[in-house]
Amino acid sequence: MGRANLSRLTVLIQPQHINTSNMNYDVIVIGSGPGGYVAAIRSAQLGMKTALVERYNSLGGTCLNVGCIPSKAMLDSSEHYHNAVHSFKEHGIELSNLKVNLKQMVKRKGDVVKQTVEGIQFLMKKNKIDVFYGHGSFESNSKVKIKLNEGGEKSLEFKYSIIATGSKPASLPFINIDKKRVITSTEALELKEVPKHMIVIGGGVIGMEMGSVYARLGSKVSIVEYMDSIIPTMDRTMGKDLQRALRKHDMDFYLSHKVTAVEAKGKEVTVKAENPKGEQVEWKADYCLVSVGRKPYTEGLGLENTSVKTDDKGRVEVDDHLRTGADNIYAIGDVIKGAMLAHKAEEEGIFVAETIAGQKPHINYLLIPGVVYTWPEVASVGHTEEELKEKKIAYNKGSFPFKASGRARASMDLDGQVKVLADKETDEILGVHIIGPRAADMIAEAVVAMEYRASAEDIARMSHAHPTFTEALKEACLAATGNRALHI
Ligand code: FAD
Ligand code: NAD
Repeated sequence: MGRANLSRLTVLIQPQHINTSNMNYDVIVIGSGPGGYVAAIRSAQLGMKTALVERYNSLGGTCLNVGCIPSKAMLDSSEHYHNAVHSFKEHGIELSNLKVNLKQMVKRKGDVVKQTVEGIQFLMKKNKIDVFYGHGSFESNSKVKIKLNEGGEKSLEFKYSIIATGSKPASLPFINIDKKRVITSTEALELKEVPKHMIVIGGGVIGMEMGSVYARLGSKVSIVEYMDSIIPTMDRTMGKDLQRALRKHDMDFYLSHKVTAVEAKGKEVTVKAENPKGEQVEWKADYCLVSVGRKPYTEGLGLENTSVKTDDKGRVEVDDHLRTGADNIYAIGDVIKGAMLAHKAEEEGIFVAETIAGQKPHINYLLIPGVVYTWPEVASVGHTEEELKEKKIAYNKGSFPFKASGRARASMDLDGQVKVLADKETDEILGVHIIGPRAADMIAEAVVAMEYRASAEDIARMSHAHPTFTEALKEACLAATGNRALHI
């Protein structure tokens, strides 16, 4: 994960309250990402004696250190700059000598991370969770050995353990990620200069978010994607609309292109690919971001000393209760199957802690929303239109464009739409897909509605404050129920 910079920020704190004479725990959580630290908090809340093991000297995992939080800090900063350059004048605000201070932008991002990470340290103390900074590995189905970062080793016994060791960036076999010119998202959060030309391999979430950051700061960004759409796992309308919107930001898209070689020489990177016609094409750039997914991380975890099994993708195998091959060892988050999302990991952390405590929790995986923090933002929950077609589920569709929204006109955020898919017979909402301003926040209404199995008619009849972006969801529901949208 390359968090050398963060270990300097965070002082190694071994909690004073740890009684080293008794190293038996009800629950030992390995990994302090959003899955692990939330599992630890919920376990402690339920009265279990809990320990958390983290190999970096900084809690919070990928999400807080090199993922969700720092990327959103960079997205927010770059968006301010982009707006200052492109839309302030229209708003009647004139600026001169505007320039990017990337060093300050990256420093602010570091401060945001530091504060967030310290918040987790506080939460561990508050909940009387013993934190061990060091690499954890299983010695058996009931023992964990920790190679402490401060030196020495410690052996802990547990009744239950939760594997929450997360994921690392994946790559392609022929790519050498030198972390200087050929980089992953981790290095992209720490660049010392704004690239002149950044080639992004992989048009998924990281490609769109980090590509947006640098396109807004003035880089030419070329997205090379293997599939025929960007963000291909989301509803296809979202990918099409997002591509149209991002083209305005000097982003180029090469879809259905298979990358075959990446070569770095000095300050230049050459990327070669096969285009849809089977011809060889190549680009030259000063940076290449590889964002082709992430892989589960179980290195040095000692799984061979336990009954825990992994699948063909290296993910820890779990049953419906997230229990591994060992009855008392559970696994959650990026290291198991399913979406690699912080809030999915959190839900699973709570689920496992409550299961261990004898409760009967439940997760509805269909209702875990997915968000891409570009501008316009993209947010989805439930089934895509493609999935409904494949499952042969008959549906009604209603959409409403933001260009017909008064609120969106006031803020000059006219790109995008809300699309609602509802069961043709029962009108139950089956999927909501939003591309537009504040879509990340708007999707929560759809999640609540779908959790309570609302119909499109239900939302269409609820009062939505005017003027708000959420009126677009109401209008899309009106459109889905008899073409009754009012403002279009
Ligand atoms: P992680 O957060 O990866 O944490 C695992 C922890 O385990 C790490 O700290 C690791 O050091 C530790 N560990 C591993 N092995 C050991 C061991 N043997 N001993 C001790 N410790 C160990 N998701 C979202 O929902 N929203 C976003 O906006 C978002 N943005 C992202 C942006 C980027 C650039 C990236 C890379 C990811 C983003 N994600 C986002 C995904 C999100 O970060 C992950 O889904 C989430 O962090 C997974 O949580 P986790 O607890 O499973 O694992
Ligand atoms: P991703 O799975 O979202 O996208 C990877 C993309 O790379 C896909 O579109 C895939 O088709 C493409 N690809 C794969 N092989 C390729 C090849 N050889 N040539 C060209 N393209 C290729 O993965 P990511 O963007 O690397 O993100 C990793 C994980 O982190 C994701 O699971 C994502 O959910 C999570 N993440 C989430 C957020 C968020 O929630 N906002 C932000 C960043 C990351």
